[in-house]
Amino acid sequence: RIEQNMFEAVQNGEFLLHYQPIVWPGSGKVCAVEALMRWQHPTGSIPPGVFIPVAEHNGLINHLGAWALRCACAQLASWDALGLDVGYISVNVSPVQFRHPGFADSVRRAIKDSGISSHRLVLEITEGALMTDPEAAQDLLTELRALGVRFAVDDFGTGYSSLSYLRRFPLSALKIDQSFVADMMDSPHARTIVFAVLSLARELGLVAIAEGVESDEQSQLLAEQGCE
Ligand code: MN
Repeated sequence: RIEQNMFEAVQNGEFLLHYQPIVWPGSGKVCAVEALMRWQHPTGSIPPGVFIPVAEHNGLINHLGAWALRCACAQLASWDALGLDVGYISVNVSPVQFRHPGFADSVRRAIKDSGISSHRLVLEITEGALMTDPEAAQDLLTELRALGVRFAVDDFGTGYSSLSYLRRFPLSALKIDQSFVADMMDSPHARTIVFAVLSLARELGLVAIAEGVESDEQSQLLAEQGCE
């Protein structure tokens, strides 16, 4: 039923993007936003954890992902026009979309059509997407990186345990998985992992972004540990 409804939903414009702020710890100033895809079905919203796997299975994710890229870049351009200072936009890329031959073109087109500078686009990819076919991934990252597009590793710490790819790929940021951030005030183990990732990022010259920060205590602890 979800699959049937999904095609109608595209026609009816039921998919939309929500923008989650990425802030500087301490000041709380917004430095960027992450675009998150949502499905507002007439009978209620359908969670991404439900519809994304279906879209990945039937290939619709390529269409939805390209739409999200266009929409997010256009949104950044319209915030610019309003004089709002949103540094860059971060867009999630599905592993299926990442492997699709038309992916690089869809990125180039979204940038060109919106008129934004390519260094203001960050693509979030998972460790799994990089490691399925590391050589193809490296070519793709190098090609898009040459345009100015940056890459962040999403949900860092929950996918492959191979760290060798951190040296191999032209990456800009690590996003510390929200499960570690959620538990870090209560669990010394989660805290140790967060601190270790912060130090790893620092030593490798990568920006560290903590996902799912919901309290001042979390924000303060992250700031103290040098999380950007
Ligand atoms: Mn993400």
